[in-house]
Amino acid sequence: MAACIFCRIARGEAPARVVHDGERVLAFHDIRPLAPTHLLVTPREHVASLWELDDPQLAGELLSVAARVAREAGLERGFRVITNAREHGGQEVDHLHLHVLGGRRLGAMLPRLF
Ligand code: 5GP
Ligand code: ZN
Repeated sequence: MAACIFCRIARGEAPARVVHDGERVLAFHDIRPLAPTHLLVTPREHVASLWELDDPQLAGELLSVAARVAREAGLERGFRVITNAREHGGQEVDHLHLHVLGGRRLGAMLPRLF
């Protein structure tokens, strides 16, 4: 996956504002933030999307790093974790990543049932 932008960031070949640099998981600021805090949490190894993820330990590490960077960013008022998968999910970068969004009240994503 020589050309994959998140693989290149993980290898240190492309710049990013890194906030967590772990053995298996990396987190950095999104280049086009949609909220005052907008971080991306990615596996260092290339996994195309959540569809391809079949490693419970890595899944746990990704979620755990998402929580940690949210705490470190001071998002105690709340935040949201999203992953877009494949075409219908609106995924643009084909390397699994969790978006961590916060720092403002986010709009509702799902219609209210009540
Ligand atoms: P997706 O639509 O795939 O869930 O989101 C991809 C995200 O990656 C977008 O929010 C976009 O701004 C971000 N992004 C794309 N290219 C780069 C890059 O080179 N560096 C960083 N830091 N973020 C990127
Ligand atoms: Zn990749």
